[in-house]
Amino acid sequence: NKAIRKAVIAGNWKMNKTPAEAKELINGIKPLVKDAACGVVCCVPYVDLPVVLEAAKGSNIGVGAENCHWEKSGAFTGEISAEMLASMGVEYVIIGHSERRQYFGETNETVNKRIRAALDAGLRVILCVGESLQQREQGVTSELVAMQTKIALDGVTKDELAHIIIAYEPIWAIGTGKTATSEQANEVCHTIRATVASLYDQKAADALTVQYGGSMKPGNAADLLAQPDVDGGLIGGASLKPQDFAAIVKAAS
Ligand code: PGA
Repeated sequence: NKAIRKAVIAGNWKMNKTPAEAKELINGIKPLVKDAACGVVCCVPYVDLPVVLEAAKGSNIGVGAENCHWEKSGAFTGEISAEMLASMGVEYVIIGHSERRQYFGETNETVNKRIRAALDAGLRVILCVGESLQQREQGVTSELVAMQTKIALDGVTKDELAHIIIAYEPIWAIGTGKTATSEQANEVCHTIRATVASLYDQKAADALTVQYGGSMKPGNAADLLAQPDVDGGLIGGASLKPQDFAAIVKAAS
């Protein structure tokens, strides 16, 4: 089944890089990943999108944003709509990252609305789900991730599911240097796939790209990516270092 899925390595630059720095970073990454056998995506701050889109033109790098609002336009000071992103040529958008949920009050319901808006605008979505350390210790990881997945996908059709990647990101592994073991990562990625199978069907679930994210780096990428239900990675810290990002892309190819 893994053979029918596309592995995708996506960088999440978070709140890093001025436009000038972003141009340098994308130009550093570009030649190192040009022969990648997997999909390669860089999700970057809104203000970096113009330079990154320009630099990535004609390359194998897909460009994404890190969030979008669910309304098309209007009185939402400081927000950016999915339409605005699509109009620039942006292809991907991360939705529901744990940092958005933790620090900016995102809920499963607003995640669902943002996904709806992104799909309506023609964007591809990288949906993030994952548990905190406390939730893992309480033994609710599977139920929690299944619930996050179900609510996020409410109203998403089977055809639209082809435009969605789900990233499993245990919050305790993000930016901490702590990685889930390959077995832990695979177990939850499998739960996500089983949840999608229950919502749609096995065929749709088998075609879904499920990434792992949380301190993925060159040293642990091959092991994580070899797991049967892990089809790629969402990379934070290591995506800011061209050599490291390229090494992870290579491990997925
Ligand atoms: P990290 O971040 O690779 O720095 O742990 C992953 C993410 O938040 O997407």
